[in-house]
Amino acid sequence: MSVQNNLANIQKNIQKACEVTNRNAEDIQLIAVTKYVTVERAQEAIEAGIQHLGENRVEGFQEKYTAIDDQAKWHFIGTLQSRKVKEIIHQVDYIHSLDRKSLAKEINKRAEHPISCFVQVNVSGESSKHGLKTDEVSDFVQSLKEYPKINVVGLMTMAPHTDDENVIRNCFQSLKQLQTEIQQLSLDYAPCNYLSMGMSNDYRIAIEEGATHIRIGSSLVGEE
Ligand SMILES: *Cc1c(COP(=O)(O)O)cnc(C)c1O
Repeated sequence: MSVQNNLANIQKNIQKACEVTNRNAEDIQLIAVTKYVTVERAQEAIEAGIQHLGENRVEGFQEKYTAIDDQAKWHFIGTLQSRKVKEIIHQVDYIHSLDRKSLAKEINKRAEHPISCFVQVNVSGESSKHGLKTDEVSDFVQSLKEYPKINVVGLMTMAPHTDDENVIRNCFQSLKQLQTEIQQLSLDYAPCNYLSMGMSNDYRIAIEEGATHIRIGSSLVGEE
């Protein structure tokens, strides 16, 4: 399938999920996750009208960025080693995987201007997943006050791998609740207006539960 066809399907699904909850499709930012695909396929996504791209590894990020540059907004969505921050920090528009103090410190040291960051939360508590535990998030966000280059624009999570829709929905609801708690702190460096949640298998549920940024790879740019 062409990216254009996949995109048309996804836009229909976004529209439907928005209708269920009376949301406006314009408030949902689609991020095409290009980590599995070639530069050419990523370029096809740009030609289809996609404006935001996501990569989860520094090498893949650099490869795509070199080819596509400012034709897209760039999201780093994977685990980020502190020593690699300097390799992407001047190219990236959003980091979705802020999950520790040492990473915040390095971003703060290397960035030239405030960076839009999502704090990654491991809502489900699965040991295979990165991110803070839900009860750690509030203290963590408050501890970022000392880093003027960190702007906490939202929270990010990955739902567990399961066919049980209720488990997925509960996960997204918990992130939404946590967002409300952070917003109530009224921190100028942490407006926390965004929720980055929802991938190919669960983005409809994520939108129903308040996602503002959905990260879609296989069903959008996948080649099959
Ligand atoms: C790979 C990845 C995605 C996209 O996954 P798909 O299931 O292919 O849509 C989204 N978010 C993160 C953090 C990823 O690593």
